[in-house]
Amino acid sequence: MTERKEPLLVVGGGAAGMMAAITAARQGAQVELLERNPKVGRKLYITGKGRCNVTNHCTVEEALASIPRNSRFLYSAMSRTTPEDVEGFFTKLGVPLKVERGNRVFPQSDHASDIIDALFHELRRLKVPVRQERALSLCCEEGVVTGVQTETGRVFCKGVILATGGASYPGTGSTGDGYEMAAQVGHTIVEPRPSLVPLESEEEFCGAMQGLALKNVVLTVRNRKGKIIYRDQGELLFTHFGLSGPLVLSASAHMRDFQKDQYTCLIDLKPALDEPTLDARLVRELTENANRNMDHVLAALAPRLLIPVLLARAEIPAERKAHDLTREERRRLLELFKRFSVSIRGPRPIAEAIVTSGGVKVSEVDPKTMASKKAEGLYLAGELLDVDAYTGGFNLQIAWATGRAAGESAAAFWSGQGQEQVPE
Ligand SMILES: Cc1cc2nc3c(=O)[nH]c(=O)nc-3n(C[C@H](O)[C@H](O)[C@H](O)COP(=O)(O)OP(=O)(O)OC[C@H]3O[C@@H](n4cnc5c(N)ncnc54)[C@H](O)[C@@H]3O)c2cc1C
Repeated sequence: MTERKEPLLVVGGGAAGMMAAITAARQGAQVELLERNPKVGRKLYITGKGRCNVTNHCTVEEALASIPRNSRFLYSAMSRTTPEDVEGFFTKLGVPLKVERGNRVFPQSDHASDIIDALFHELRRLKVPVRQERALSLCCEEGVVTGVQTETGRVFCKGVILATGGASYPGTGSTGDGYEMAAQVGHTIVEPRPSLVPLESEEEFCGAMQGLALKNVVLTVRNRKGKIIYRDQGELLFTHFGLSGPLVLSASAHMRDFQKDQYTCLIDLKPALDEPTLDARLVRELTENANRNMDHVLAALAPRLLIPVLLARAEIPAERKAHDLTREERRRLLELFKRFSVSIRGPRPIAEAIVTSGGVKVSEVDPKTMASKKAEGLYLAGELLDVDAYTGGFNLQIAWATGRAAGESAAAFWSGQGQEQVPE
């Protein structure tokens, strides 16, 4: 008869936690998963607008280049669990995948629930119990983690993988609990900040255009020194507080320091037309509608909500007749069409961010094993760590790669084969 050992505990049933639990269980560890929600993968369910952009079909180098924060720390884990490995992992679990624009990988079904179901069934097949429990703190004896205190009592264990996620979208269960638990055993928490987040502006015209979505515009972001830190084409949205939409979320990940820097968004409303071509087009509209008011003339060139804002910013009365428009006024309009500026006050709160930047300081975690350098038997994975990436499936790639690394080494620790970690 085999001796019954205390289990290896995984705290958090998100992407990283489920990958860690599956990896460890496949290596023979007796694993238990603690998840505060009644079901695992609640955040996964809303990823990729419910379609789950599960990874990016690219090389490890390309993936690392899409991680602005602490990509070097991820080199080992990402080299051992590459985007290709992740695709293979889900294909083997019976989820056919497809590659879309920007190498984004999705389930062929377009259902994030297929990814969650596949992970959940694999946990079941491996006989990993999922207990609905909220972990509150880690129990440590002489620098070794021996259990987890939950809302209902203490669970003893041999090894803990902490995968409680960041602090974004707290309604999914990721409320930042892991930061406190890690800090409790001596980890430094780099201040959690929002990334991939809508942007606030003081400009009143944003509110006036609330609900206006602009497709195929080019967004350029400049910092205080005027340096271009982001430029791309896509869709953005005006809201009551400022700017949102896919282009703006992506841009926000490049704005790394809202406290010290000042950012300005410049929107090219007509990227398909260079300035001389757009000017010729304006002249044509003005000539053909010489006796019409300017707001009527602009209807051919801009969406309804934008027209009063363009005219006000160009200091042109709406009732000005086209034939009365001065060369200078036309130049101001042209400038607005090509460089519609919006000054940015800061990001929306972390709760509205797609990912959390900041978290457990990575120099306190072994990059190969994800083992804590502060407490023996503790492993960390996923968004809880101070890593974050651009959009495109890279954030989940981080969760899968670090989850697998943590699962492998925690299983070795559990079975007594691991290299004993010496706490700092
Ligand atoms: C709207 C949205 C869309 C996104 N789309 C994409 C996308 O398409 N592609 C992509 O790559 N990334 C996407 N992301 C980011 C991605 O979802 C996260 O980076 C990823 O889920 C992080 O995985 P994780 O396992 O570290 O954390 P999470 O997925 O947040 O999982 C953490 C889990 O831990 C549980 N937990 C927390 N505290 C406790 C506790 N005390 N006790 C027990 N359990 C606890 C939580 O309930 C949760 O289930 C998106 C994020 C959002 C919000």
